[in-house]
Amino acid sequence: MSERPVAIVSAMHDELRALLPALHDARTVHLAGRAFHHGRIQGHPVVLVLSGIGKVAAATTAVLLMHAFDACQLVFTGVAGGLHRGVRVGDVVVARQLLQHDMDASPLFPRFEVPLTGRSRFDADAPLADALAAAARRCLDRADALIGAPHLLDFGIDGARVHEGLVISGDRFVASAAHSDELRALQPDALAVEMEGAAVAQACADFERPFAVLRTVSDRADDSAHVDFTRFTAEVASVYTRAIVEDWLAHAVHG
Ligand code: SAH
Repeated sequence: MSERPVAIVSAMHDELRALLPALHDARTVHLAGRAFHHGRIQGHPVVLVLSGIGKVAAATTAVLLMHAFDACQLVFTGVAGGLHRGVRVGDVVVARQLLQHDMDASPLFPRFEVPLTGRSRFDADAPLADALAAAARRCLDRADALIGAPHLLDFGIDGARVHEGLVISGDRFVASAAHSDELRALQPDALAVEMEGAAVAQACADFERPFAVLRTVSDRADDSAHVDFTRFTAEVASVYTRAIVEDWLAHAVHG
């Protein structure tokens, strides 16, 4: 990694709030209604920012990070709804590919294809995703120490896993079994659904800038998706995100 900052983008306040105390020599720059917090984590120059929710907010944030702050790579963190069987609440998903499930310019273009790009799936940077998945595995191995086993059991979490694969994004909070069934039928290999990752992927592809998406599974994108959502984000996902980001940067090589 160079002196250009690594960008770490949070979808929600609780996660940014958890990361900020890890930031040394912090200074804040305001642009386009966002606060960009510069500093160092584990010796690496980083910029932390809250993107807001949804594809436009995420794409705007990604472009600002690359164009105004020259971020060398982007990591988007947040929570997601588990889609694939076996992707349970409390698991971590590292995206290898991303797709916009609400993109549909058919019959002019194939459904899901981003018009004029010829692509529906955008790849995350493989070495970055490898490093984040390794950090996530190390952190989940000590999840009981990080959060406390009784507290995890409270959320029905008993032994979390890291998954790697397709993450799908759209401007819709998926909170019904009917909708998640439909998405599973359309994209059988999708691990999780969220609202920002594929937008960041498209923006980063334009800039040819490496990015990765790291998500803690907060719900199963079904009729009870909203239950415990806020508490889960504050008490579990934010703790994981901070631990994984610090562990990843502690193992990352400068230069
Ligand atoms: N109540 C929250 C709103 C969160 S919107 C608030 O006021 O802040 C949902 C966020 O979590 C988005 O950032 C999205 O990426 C992610 N997410 C988690 N579960 C999801 C699901 N089932 N469907 C879509 N997005 C989901």
